[in-house]
Amino acid sequence: MCGIFGQIAAGAVSNTVKALKYLEYRGYDSAGLALRRGDCLEMYKTEGRIATLERIVDGIDEATVAIGHTRWATHGAVSTANAHPFLSEDGNFAIVHNGIIENYRELKALLPQVKFTSQTDSETVAHLLRQNYRGDVLQTVLTTARMLKGSFAIAVLSVYGDKLYAVRNKSPLVVGFSSNGAYLCSDIRCISHWATSVAVAPDNAVAEIGKNGAKFFRLDGTPVDVKFFAPPRAEETESFEGDFMLKEIFEIPAKLRQAKRNYVERGGLSLDADTVRRLKRIYLIGCGTAYHSGLAVAAVARKFIDADVIPVVASEFIYDNYPVDGDTLAFLISQSGETADTVRAAERVTESGGLTYAVTNTDSSSLTFKCDNCVNICADGEFAVASTKAYNCQIAVLTMLFADIALLRGTLSAKKHNAIFREIDGLPFAVEQILDESYRIAQLAEEVAHSSAVFFIGRTTDYPTACEGSLKLKEISYIHSEAYPAGELKHGTLALMERSVTVVAISTDPALRDKMISSVNEVTSRGARVIAFAPYAMEGVDTFELPPTGELLYAATACVPLQLLAYYAAKSLGRDVDKPRHLAKSVTVE
Ligand code: GLU
Repeated sequence: MCGIFGQIAAGAVSNTVKALKYLEYRGYDSAGLALRRGDCLEMYKTEGRIATLERIVDGIDEATVAIGHTRWATHGAVSTANAHPFLSEDGNFAIVHNGIIENYRELKALLPQVKFTSQTDSETVAHLLRQNYRGDVLQTVLTTARMLKGSFAIAVLSVYGDKLYAVRNKSPLVVGFSSNGAYLCSDIRCISHWATSVAVAPDNAVAEIGKNGAKFFRLDGTPVDVKFFAPPRAEETESFEGDFMLKEIFEIPAKLRQAKRNYVERGGLSLDADTVRRLKRIYLIGCGTAYHSGLAVAAVARKFIDADVIPVVASEFIYDNYPVDGDTLAFLISQSGETADTVRAAERVTESGGLTYAVTNTDSSSLTFKCDNCVNICADGEFAVASTKAYNCQIAVLTMLFADIALLRGTLSAKKHNAIFREIDGLPFAVEQILDESYRIAQLAEEVAHSSAVFFIGRTTDYPTACEGSLKLKEISYIHSEAYPAGELKHGTLALMERSVTVVAISTDPALRDKMISSVNEVTSRGARVIAFAPYAMEGVDTFELPPTGELLYAATACVPLQLLAYYAAKSLGRDVDKPRHLAKSVTVE
C-alpha cells in the first residue's frame, strides 16, 4: 500500500520515478514528487499511473534532493489535487505521507488562515511545519511530530539546508546509504536497489538525514541509537513483460522447495520444549490470504494438537476479548510483515504476556522486529497485488511448525511427524501436475467469467480453500463471490441459485465425498452450474481431478487451480490482474 521514497544524490528525479515504479506493485491510485531547484521547491503530481508522472517530469534532472509518493487514498477522493506531495503556503516545506493522521480535524482547526487545496488528512502536516518554523528545521519537525496522532511515515523536504527529514509512527520507514548518497523509503526491498546499508527508523522518532549520515531522535529530542545492516538482495521487477500473478503461480513448486529447505536448515521450530509443553492455546492471526492460511492449517493441526488452535482475523483480534496469557502462543502471519492490523495484534499479544511468532516473507519487517520469534516462508518477492505463492508457502511452513509443536508435546509420533515432512516434499510435484493442466482451468474460467455470482463450497479442511478461492476471484475479476461450508448453503443461500450462478465445489476428503455430492445435487437441481475440484470423480459434475496429496496438505495444492481459475477469469474479462482496483499489496493502515 502507498509508498514513500526520498533521496539526496545525483539523479534525484529519475531515481525517484524509478523507485515509485518499484513501489507500484503495492497498489496505488495517484503519484507525485517534490524536488528542490535552487532555493525553490517544485512539485509534480497526477492521478493514475507513474508513467504519466514520468512524462510530466521528463527532462528535469538537475535536482539532487527529491521526495516521491504513491498514494492509496484514505481521506479524500482519488484526484490530482489529493495526490501527494503537499506544499506549505509559503512553498518552503514539502511533505509526502503514508498512513492516517487521526487528529487532522483538530489540527486543521489550529490553522484557520490556511486555504487547503485538498481533502486529505496529510496536507495539514505541510501547513503545521510552516506555522512551527522558528529557524531550525529539526526542531520544527519534532514540534510538528509531537502534535500528530495516528499511523504515519512522513518525508519532509524544505528550502532550508540540504537535509531530508522523516517522521515515523507505526508505518514502515527505512533509511539507507550508499557511496552515492542517502535514501529513505517505506519498502526495504525498494531501497535495496540503491542503498548498501539500511536502518529501520524507530517508532515515534524523527530522522535527520544528510548525504553521508543520519541522526535519529525521540520526539522529545533525545538521540536514539539505530543499527544499520546490509539490506536483502534487490529483486528486479522491470524486465518481466507478462503478468506477475501468473509468473508467481508458476513459481509455487520452486518456492515450496525453498520454504522446506529453509525451515529445516534454520533448525525447525526453535522454541524450547518446556515452553511448548506449557501452551494452552495457539492463535493463527492474519488478514485476507494470510488469515486463510491460518484457517487452513488450524483445520488440520486440530487433528494432532491437544492445545486450542484458534484462527482469528487480525483486525478482530485487536478489539475482541480473545484470552491471552503466559500460556498463549500467537503466530502472526503476513506476507509483507507490515500489515498494520497484524502488527497491532502482535502488540496486543505481547502486552498481555503471550509469546509471538512472526511468519512472514520479509526479514527486517515491522512484524519481525516486534515478535519474539520469526520464520521466513521464503516465497521471494510477490509483485502481483493478489497473493498466490506466499499462501502455499505459509501453509507448508505453518504445517511444519505445528508438526514440531505436536512432536514436542507428544501428541504426534516421530513416524507421523516424518510422514508430514515427506508430504511437504511431495507438494511441489503435485503442484507441477496441476500447472501442466492449466489450459483446462483456462477453459473452465471462461464460464466462470460470465457468471452473475460464484459460490465456493467445501467442508472442514476444504472450507479454507473455498475461502481463498473466492477471495482470489473477487479480488482480480470483480465477480461477486462468496465461500460457504458446503452444509451451510441450504440454510439461506440456496435462495440465490439460478442458471447464471456457478458453484465451485472443493472435495478432498473421501469420507465426506457423498455429503459433498448431496450439496452439489441441491444446487444443480436449482439450475446452478457446478465445477468440482477433487482427487476422485464426482458423478455428473465437471471435475478437475486433483493429484493425490497427503490428507493434511490438500490446502497447499487445491488452492492452485483456484488461483488459476481467478487469473483466467479476470483475463477473460480484460481486468488489470496485477493491479486490481482499490487494492493494495501491503495494507499499512488499520
Ligand atoms: N491518508 C493519506 C491520504 O489519503 C495518505 C494515504 C496513503 O498512505 O497513501 O492521502
